[in-house]
Amino acid sequence: MGSRLSSRSRSGRALVWLRRDLRLRDHPALHAAYSSAAEVIPVFCIDRRLLGGRHGSGPRTQFMLECLGDLQRALAARGGGLAVLDGAPERRLPELARRLGAREVHASADVSAYARRSEERVRRALRAEGVDLVLHPGLFVVDDPAAIQSGAGRPYTVFTPYYRSWLKASRRSVLPTPRALARIPARVGQRVPELADLGLRQALQGAPTGGEQAARRLLARFLSGAVEGYAESRNLLAASGTSALSPYLHFGCISARELEHALPPGDGGSELRRQLCWRDFYAQVLRCFPRNARSEHQARYRGTLRYSRARRTFDAWRQGQTGYPVVDAAMRQLLREGWMHNRARLIVGSFLTKDLGIDWRWGERWFMQMLLDGDQASNNGNWQWIASVGVDPAPAARRIYNPALQQERYDPDGVYVRRYVPELARVPDEHLAQPWLMPLALQQECGCVIGRDYPAPIVDHRQARREALRRYGEVPRG
Ligand SMILES: Cc1cc2nc3c(=O)[nH]c(=O)nc-3n(C[C@H](O)[C@H](O)[C@H](O)COP(=O)(O)OP(=O)(O)OC[C@H]3O[C@@H](n4cnc5c(N)ncnc54)[C@H](O)[C@@H]3O)c2cc1C
Repeated sequence: MGSRLSSRSRSGRALVWLRRDLRLRDHPALHAAYSSAAEVIPVFCIDRRLLGGRHGSGPRTQFMLECLGDLQRALAARGGGLAVLDGAPERRLPELARRLGAREVHASADVSAYARRSEERVRRALRAEGVDLVLHPGLFVVDDPAAIQSGAGRPYTVFTPYYRSWLKASRRSVLPTPRALARIPARVGQRVPELADLGLRQALQGAPTGGEQAARRLLARFLSGAVEGYAESRNLLAASGTSALSPYLHFGCISARELEHALPPGDGGSELRRQLCWRDFYAQVLRCFPRNARSEHQARYRGTLRYSRARRTFDAWRQGQTGYPVVDAAMRQLLREGWMHNRARLIVGSFLTKDLGIDWRWGERWFMQMLLDGDQASNNGNWQWIASVGVDPAPAARRIYNPALQQERYDPDGVYVRRYVPELARVPDEHLAQPWLMPLALQQECGCVIGRDYPAPIVDHRQARREALRRYGEVPRG
């Protein structure tokens, strides 16, 4: 459905400053600009400070460039275009607004400290030109995840009560796609750079394609198939039972609100809605507790928890060479595809922080480098959750997963493990979770001698569990 507004009721030019809302459909900022101005110019600024920092990522930037290319084609098909400017938005947006005589800039409000500071810098710079910055919802299911507060007027730090209030919060209508947009003046740059132009490289072999079109295809497939069984199969590692929409949601190729609206009634739809609430929940956590970006939410763990600094075991984890098949399969999936199943993220997160005793921030950073869906709020929130130092607290013992048991439960036929760890292809099912227990003759027979063809486990899980409980137990209660 498209929206056709009378051009007589609209006047002037407006810019839409795009960041991680790279779509046309259900875009409140674009819709508002289109409703008030006669000419709307969407703009993306390549902010190099974001590309090289601690969260910089070649794979995710490549995905983003594909999203921009896709958006540009979609805009061109509607007679418009996408201005692509190289530089800080607080410099480039006021320049462009002045050159084009734009009176308003519309954008989707974001939650991270960096994004919010950037909004403030842009607002001030625009004001000096007499131009208004108007912020809109659009990144989350609810308009403002941080507006959902406890009865005492405080942010929620436990998921379930947040979820209950979130379900009751009002929702905006899903918005149509503007049909016709203004041409971009010829002198405004529109070239989407190549990844190499930005000094980055693609490290993945099998990454999905970015963009709204690809997101819509994936969504249609999910809604006509897996959503029905989602509640039962979302934890099965090999089943393709989840939407795989996370990179598209991160870059806003599809709106979380539209996804929620499209969910069918029934257990599958309800369970997926709950997962979308986790996304909003962590956004509100980062918005209300910005220092969580660097330190533990639970004050008693700040600077008190002993961490291992063993680079060798950290590298074995990163490269999928720990000797625990399900951990290695998951870490190799990340290396190959830039994505990992949620259950696998929990298993490798528990393994890194509990079995290896390594600082959760090391894992968080590696995920940010590799994940196409790398999202500061969701990544930080989930890493703190699995490290037992964040919001939604539970005793450390409840979040130490036994990798062998997890594998038997969530990859019972070994399809996932064998897909990513070919050395184990001929290991019989009954030995696949702990291949080091195979008699040597069997190891030789199935071409997988432990220590030669596949690593011996780098830690003993039972011992590591005891050591983890000791480390957490040493921290004085707050
Ligand atoms: C250690 C760790 C790090 C993570 N880092 C990220 C990250 O950087 N970016 C990210 O988007 N997700 C992250 N997650 C959450 C989750 O693993 C992914 O969102 C999910 O695996 C994406 O696959 P999907 O799209 O098929 O999910 P689906 O099961 O289809 O769920 C639909 C959507 O709900 C949201 N969602 C689902 N689970 C969660 C969750 N636990 N927290 C927040 N949102 C959720 C996602 O947007 C997801 O795309 C992390 C989880 C863990 C345990």
